Amino acid sequence: MKVLVATEKPFAKRAVDGIRSIVEEAGYELALLEKYTDKTQLLEAVADVDALIVRSDKVTREVIDAARNLRIVVRAGAGYDNVDLAAATERGIVVMNTPGQNSNAVAELAIALMIFMARNRFTPGTGSEIQGKTLGIHAYGHVGRLVGRKGKALGMEVIAYDPFVGEEVFAADGVKRVGSIAELYASSDYLSLHIPATAETKGSIGYDLLMSMPKGATLVNTARKEVIDEEGVLRALTEREDLKYVTDIAAGNQAELDEKFGKRVFATPKKMGAETAEANINAGLAAARQIVDFFRTGNTRFQVNK
Ligand code: NAD
Repeated sequence: MKVLVATEKPFAKRAVDGIRSIVEEAGYELALLEKYTDKTQLLEAVADVDALIVRSDKVTREVIDAARNLRIVVRAGAGYDNVDLAAATERGIVVMNTPGQNSNAVAELAIALMIFMARNRFTPGTGSEIQGKTLGIHAYGHVGRLVGRKGKALGMEVIAYDPFVGEEVFAADGVKRVGSIAELYASSDYLSLHIPATAETKGSIGYDLLMSMPKGATLVNTARKEVIDEEGVLRALTEREDLKYVTDIAAGNQAELDEKFGKRVFATPKKMGAETAEANINAGLAAARQIVDFFRTGNTRFQVNK
């Protein structure tokens, strides 16, 4: 059994060492393709592998076609929109993610971005505090829930919207569940986005929602670029000089946003939500364990193309 780790942006060395010991202890072979610069390198490397671990690497139909023995792909991380699920499913290939493994890293970044914006991006002048402000969480999954708990610990009033999460989860965290997206945005001084990019959510956050937010509100995006209606955000920021937008995933029109709105907008230079040593190691090791478990017991708990 051959497991390939294909990472344009490699895992930390400790993660690779951990993956190697899990794979080799199971009696499998580990192959590494790191920092590849051309997709032909990936097409060659997948030719004889049974399992593939990737990060944000693109596993297209072409890659899947080239991987004749492939039975499982694990995306070490949460979002799996970099994997062509339809192509994998057609071949009966199992695709998994490693939910929850990098959530704390992303949640800490979301809180950091709020404070950064509250303090005028650490430039001289009078900022504000996040304590006492209302924090709205849009989607109460792994990351959303951690942001909610951290917000509460910092003295924020936390409200959330997620139609797929049971009332008991919100109650356990002491978070108020609101009944609609409209109510969430209209009540939130800080709105932290944690929805996945789906057909329903793509381009869904834009002008109307931003315009409904309270005076001085900040939209914080550590989810996905695709969920934003970029033109709508630009229009709302133009019409409302009190609004702020901060993101871990630069918008297509980020240069224009930066130029027009200065300190009211900020994008991290490169997506860095999950870029901590801890998250890196957790997600890599989880991916290796899930592969071994899949081959040994048929466990498909984290399969996303069922
Ligand atoms: P998750 O699957 O644990 O949670 C997603 C939540 O969204 C679920 O609770 C689900 O019920 C909810 N949801 C789905 N559709 C919805 C809708 N239409 N309206 C409201 N809620 C909806 O995912 P997660 O691990 O919490 O990740 C959340 C987001 O963060 C994803 O977009 C993921 O891609 C992104 N992410 C970003 C980084 C980064 O580096 N910035 C890293 C990890 C994850």
